[in-house]
Amino acid sequence: MTESSKASHQSDPSPASKDTPPPPPSASNRGQGPRRERFPLHWQILIGLIIGGLLGWLSGWLALRRTGWTTEAADVVVERLEYIFYQLVGDLFLSALFVIVIPLITTSIILAVNNIASRSRFGIIGLKTIAYYLSTSTIAILIGLVLVNTIQPGVSSGPEPLLTAEQAERFEGERQDMERRLGLPEGRAEGTAFLNTIRDMVPRNLVVAAATNNILGLIIVSMVVGFFLSRLKGRQGEVLTDFFEAIYSITLSITHVIIRLAPIGVAALIATTIALNYARLAPDDRFIDLLRGILLFSATVVGALLLHFGLVLPLILYFVGGINPFKYYHAMAPALMTAFSTASSAATLPLTMKCVEERAGVSRKTSSFVLPLGATVNMDGTALYECVAAIFIVQAFGYQLDFMQQLFVVVVALLTSIGVAGVPSASLVAILVILQSVGRQLEAQHGVVIPLETGVAILFVFDRFLDMCRTAVNIFSDSCGAAVIARTEGETDLLVAVSPSSKLAS
Ligand code: ASP
Repeated sequence: MTESSKASHQSDPSPASKDTPPPPPSASNRGQGPRRERFPLHWQILIGLIIGGLLGWLSGWLALRRTGWTTEAADVVVERLEYIFYQLVGDLFLSALFVIVIPLITTSIILAVNNIASRSRFGIIGLKTIAYYLSTSTIAILIGLVLVNTIQPGVSSGPEPLLTAEQAERFEGERQDMERRLGLPEGRAEGTAFLNTIRDMVPRNLVVAAATNNILGLIIVSMVVGFFLSRLKGRQGEVLTDFFEAIYSITLSITHVIIRLAPIGVAALIATTIALNYARLAPDDRFIDLLRGILLFSATVVGALLLHFGLVLPLILYFVGGINPFKYYHAMAPALMTAFSTASSAATLPLTMKCVEERAGVSRKTSSFVLPLGATVNMDGTALYECVAAIFIVQAFGYQLDFMQQLFVVVVALLTSIGVAGVPSASLVAILVILQSVGRQLEAQHGVVIPLETGVAILFVFDRFLDMCRTAVNIFSDSCGAAVIARTEGETDLLVAVSPSSKLAS
């Protein structure tokens, strides 16, 4: 058993004692001691974002110029050599992050639960974590609800509704494309999608669960394994704990290498996103009549996300955790920028864990339980988005929801956000589920067929930017949860690690 893993995962005699391990030795720091890097990682990633954005804009502009600003620019841009190169680099970076997610989640949860359960605090920490997740997601949804009802982005200024089924049909191509990518059968979400989330919690086959990204199922199984590992006495228990710790240590070392490449990966991902979206949207005249509504909708989402990110979560950090929110933003900057560019909480998880442990100083025993769980279960930004998007589409079709129907949307948004996978655009499936149910209620009420689900097509087109924003909020809420829970568990050294000696902070 390595020293660092022992320090991090072995039973802690006093729940209040600090358990922050030194950063694990890695290829880059082994034998050298702490050292200050020439250029801090968060600045490197920010520069990557800016350069990637500019390169993407240039590719899009060149494609638009070649096609005379027509919609064919989108087909031209994807064939450009530099675009293919950016895509390759971005894909490699994403795959490298995803490939460590399953071993990282399973081993960290097994070891964390093993550690917590052997101190008989499993129930308490588990309850605190769930309470934090549910309360912050509910607050986020309510912020979205208040804003979408106040701003009313979907309400048309004229006599005609903003959106009709015929207009939505013009976006059918995007819709089919996105549904194919999200793996939805026959172009629509199944009515039982929500029940399937509950079904997924108990996977039949672990290999299938891992292969189909059923992270929730893997988390539940890992918790059970961790719990019984803590009851396994003698040599068997030690051997198995050593085994999981060894895998965990290897994933951390690999994570460290991938993080070094984050500035390049992030630049490549942003370049492809901007190039494609610029070339696709700039000449598209389908939006002209919808533009005001779509812009207002995006502003409502971004405003609500900013309120949650810039006010609610910092207040929780400050009043519940006693933590300086500005220092915490600084500590989380690399993970926030990676979440923004990948639009995936799952892919960002390795960075989130590194930042929370090494830059914010949360102990591994807390972060390795709270964060993997949070990356799947706690999605404040996603829950908020689901609520605003569903109500926007109802408004755009010229209807309003009464109090009980809005309450229904809030509850379904909260529950479905738990099952949404931490991958790009995943929440669109949940929005389809909400719209199907609300649509049926409105049809019964008004006695007409209202094809609400078709309205989701206009979200597909603009989804990427809003996805980037909500994913950053998702992972920030997870990380605040880790800090707050660590504080309530008696950890006192938070943010001490943000110093020149910290590997990532340096
Ligand atoms: N992309 C989000 C995430 O990974 C999920 C979503 O809202 O679509 O957290």
